[in-house]
Amino acid sequence: MFHAPNATGEGGEPSPIRLRALSLGAGVQSTTLALLAAHGEIGPMPDCAIFANTGWEPKAVYEHLAWLMSPNVLPFPVHIVSAGSIRDQLVQAGEGNRWASIPAFAKTVTPAGAEVPVLDMDDVGELVEVATRRTTTETVSIGMIRRQCTTDFKIVPIRRKIRELAGLTRKRSPSFPVVESWIGISTDEVVRAKPSFEPWQIKRFPLIEKRFSRRDCLAWLRRLGYPEPPKSACIGCPFHDSARWRNMRDYDAEAWADAVEVDRALRHGLRGIRGEVFLHRSCVPLDEADLSTAADRGQLDLFGNECEGMCGV
Ligand code: SF4
Repeated sequence: MFHAPNATGEGGEPSPIRLRALSLGAGVQSTTLALLAAHGEIGPMPDCAIFANTGWEPKAVYEHLAWLMSPNVLPFPVHIVSAGSIRDQLVQAGEGNRWASIPAFAKTVTPAGAEVPVLDMDDVGELVEVATRRTTTETVSIGMIRRQCTTDFKIVPIRRKIRELAGLTRKRSPSFPVVESWIGISTDEVVRAKPSFEPWQIKRFPLIEKRFSRRDCLAWLRRLGYPEPPKSACIGCPFHDSARWRNMRDYDAEAWADAVEVDRALRHGLRGIRGEVFLHRSCVPLDEADLSTAADRGQLDLFGNECEGMCGV
């Protein structure tokens, strides 16, 4: 259950909150959140919004962000922070350099007749190799690479900016909340709403307080005559479902060509990753993947894995 904190603390005392910062992804939910605040429908008014630029958002997101930052749209400033370009880092990763891993898919093929270890537990419960055996059939395994990009490209730069704005840079953190971070998670993604584990800040999910689903956000924006925001996420985010890839292929040729190129660059040579790497969950090259509507059936929304609520909102 989420409650809206008051401007005053317990017993009517002034609140110790010295900064209210809205995490702006420039997608549907965070745009609605910012505009709801601008209309006074959610309060108190945030002091600012912060957009973490991964350098790899579609053009439509940057255009939408420019509109949000234009005069007379939001009554508070939007700060843009960046830890560099996720795209550039990925291309360099394809050449064997260090990278902040994205949740791409790695496919490993073990041919028939290969020698593989037989594992067992030792006395202290550790897995140890006790023998080897030869495989009789070819086995293909697909796994998702551990995601580090949201932390490196969004959470860390936003947190650094928040601490700077709250006067906490290189200072000991208070043991009570002085910052309120607003995150645009809607009721249909409530599983992504996680409390802060740091005593100096609390997270707030105003769309959940207002019982707004993504559909409610769109309806509210429409009712007030606002443009529909694009879906915000990196161009080549492996969390995209086939419908999203299809939409990119059919309506954003530039972004599609870019994603196909990066997908190809990732195929071999990623440091620390065994096997071939793909952006599409089916582990085939992006421009050969089945993106038909039939492929949509039964697809999970992988953005649910991005539980910090920084991407796709
Ligand atoms: S949109 Fe995807 S690739 Fe980009 S930071 Fe988020 S999880 Fe990583």
